[in-house]
Amino acid sequence: MNKDIGPIEDLIKKLNRLPGIGSKTAQRLAYHIIEMDESEVSDIANSLIRAKKETKKCSICMNYADSDPCDICSNKLRDDSIICVVENPKDVEAMERSLSFRGKYHVLHGVISPLKGKSAEDVTIKELLNRIEKGNVKEVIVATNPTVDGDATARYIQNILDKYDIIISRIGYGLPVGGDLEFYDEITISTAMQNRRKLD
Ligand SMILES: [Zn+2]
Repeated sequence: MNKDIGPIEDLIKKLNRLPGIGSKTAQRLAYHIIEMDESEVSDIANSLIRAKKETKKCSICMNYADSDPCDICSNKLRDDSIICVVENPKDVEAMERSLSFRGKYHVLHGVISPLKGKSAEDVTIKELLNRIEKGNVKEVIVATNPTVDGDATARYIQNILDKYDIIISRIGYGLPVGGDLEFYDEITISTAMQNRRKLD
């Protein structure tokens, strides 16, 4: 807490740090919060802290979950010979909504982007390799976004997995270039999955 500025000003500054919340929105939210009942505000504050404290990273797929391994990784009905690699946890949700995939996931938590100073060490590629090393994976579907960085990351994954006897494919057909998986509808995602192409 910053004691040098008033509580509203302090709250506006904190809200402004969140992605997608500019100073105008931060201001609007702050005044809205002030006008809410104290119990409602406590409720939101408690949810923020609880989500932060109780959310774990699944040690297999690296997705956020409330258990480790997560529900998807521990689901015996899902095919663990196919791994779908996505950029972010939100992409897993989008993929699940599309009902087009019954394998397992791997969440990179970002992409490789030399321009933004992000290298392979900044994403969970090492953890992906560990999973491949264990053996029974037959196909890796790279479902990073159809952006310059998403494509570069797909190529990087293709190169490091080249020595293994697995199929590496890339979704993309029908996906608008530069788009973001989390905003696509179910049909677009499921078509993109069906039309994945082998990387070679
Ligand atoms: Zn998992």
